[in-house]
Amino acid sequence: MRLVVVGAAGRMGRMLIRAIDQAQGCRLVAAVERPGNAAIGSDAGVLAGLPTLGVAVTSDPAAAFAAADGVLDFTAPDATVAFAGLAADAGILHVVGTTGMEPAHLAKLEEAARRTPIIRSGNMSLGVNLLAALVRKVAATLGTDWDIEVVEMHHRMKVDAPSGTAVLLGEAAAEGRNVDLAKARVAGRDGITGAREAGTIGFAALRGGTVVGDHKVIFAGAGERLELAHVAEDRSLFAQGAVKAALWGKGRAPGLYSMADVLGLDAL
Ligand code: NAD
Repeated sequence: MRLVVVGAAGRMGRMLIRAIDQAQGCRLVAAVERPGNAAIGSDAGVLAGLPTLGVAVTSDPAAAFAAADGVLDFTAPDATVAFAGLAADAGILHVVGTTGMEPAHLAKLEEAARRTPIIRSGNMSLGVNLLAALVRKVAATLGTDWDIEVVEMHHRMKVDAPSGTAVLLGEAAAEGRNVDLAKARVAGRDGITGAREAGTIGFAALRGGTVVGDHKVIFAGAGERLELAHVAEDRSLFAQGAVKAALWGKGRAPGLYSMADVLGLDAL
C-alpha cells in the first residue's frame, strides 16, 4: 500500500514515517509539510531518524496523493479538512488522527467521506479504544447518581484541550447514558461554579513536561468510586495504530470509520 504522511516534520509525522518503515505491506511514497517548513526538500527517512528513504519532503499534497493509496494525517483541523477534500478528489483512503476538530470541521469530513473512506480517531491505540468500550458499558450500567469526570494529562506543547482522547472517552460515557455529550459536557471549572449538576460529564486537563498521554475516567458514587485509566508510554503506538488502520481500510467503501471498527471492538 502506497502511503503519504502529511505533517511529516511533526512529532507524530516522524513517528508515522518510522511506523510505515517497520510495517509489512506498505511503503512511504511521499511526505508533505506546509510551505515554508524547514523540512521541505529534506529526505523523509533522515527526518525521522532512519537511513535515507529517497522520498523528499514536498509542499504539494495534490501531486503526492495522485500517486498513493492512502494518507496518514496528524496535523491541525483546518489542514485536515483541506486534505480530506484532496484525498476524496484523488479517491484515496484518509486516516485522521488530528484532534481539536470543531463541528464545522467534522461536517466537512463527513462530506468527504461520501466520496472516499475516512478512518478518524482521537486515539489510535488498542488500549484506549478498549477503555472506551468499557466506559460505555459502565456508564450504561450506573445511574446518573454516579458522577462522571474525565481527567487527562499531556506534555506542555499540546495546543488543544481537552484532549481528543478525553473527548472520545466522554463520548463513550455519553453514549452509554444515551445523552448528547455537547449538552452534558462541563469543561474547565474555575471560581464559584455552584454545585455539580447531576448527569453532567466533567473534563479536567493538566499540562506539563513530556507526558505522552494519561487518561482517567472516574465514576464517583455515594461512598464509592470506580476509576478506569490508561497510560500511553510511547507515541509510536499511535503511529502503529494509524498504519494498522490504513491497511484495514484498503479497498473499503466510502464512509466514516473509527478505530473501534478497525479493532473489531463494536461487539463489546
Ligand atoms: P506537531 O505540531 O508536532 O505536528 C503537526 C505538523 O503538522 C507540523 O509539522 C505542522 O507543520 C504540520 N502541518 C500543519 N498544517 C499543515 C499543512 N497545511 N500542510 C502540511 N503540514 C501541516 O503536533 P503533533 O504532536 O504531531 O500532533 C498532531 C495532531 O495529532 C494533534 O492534533 C494531536 O492532538 C494529534 N494526535 C493524535 C493522536 C491519536 O492517536 N489520534 C496521538 C497523538 C497526537
